[in-house]
Amino acid sequence: MAACTQCSASAVIEDLDVQPPQTWSLGCATARVRAGDPMINYRSLNRDSDYAHILAGGSTQVLPFG
Ligand SMILES: [Zn+2]
Repeated sequence: MAACTQCSASAVIEDLDVQPPQTWSLGCATARVRAGDPMINYRSLNRDSDYAHILAGGSTQVLPFG
């Protein structure tokens, strides 16, 4: 299983906006959402898609695209 590039936890998403794609654990990804800088263009690495739920419910910020 892939590991987060910010800490040693297992990664749940891969940020596709950077090259090479950067892996994030749920904790680190949640911190980004809370900080108002969520990863929008990402690939989920787990079937439960926990990050999608946090992205949908954890931020009041309107998506910058679309
Ligand atoms: Zn992490």
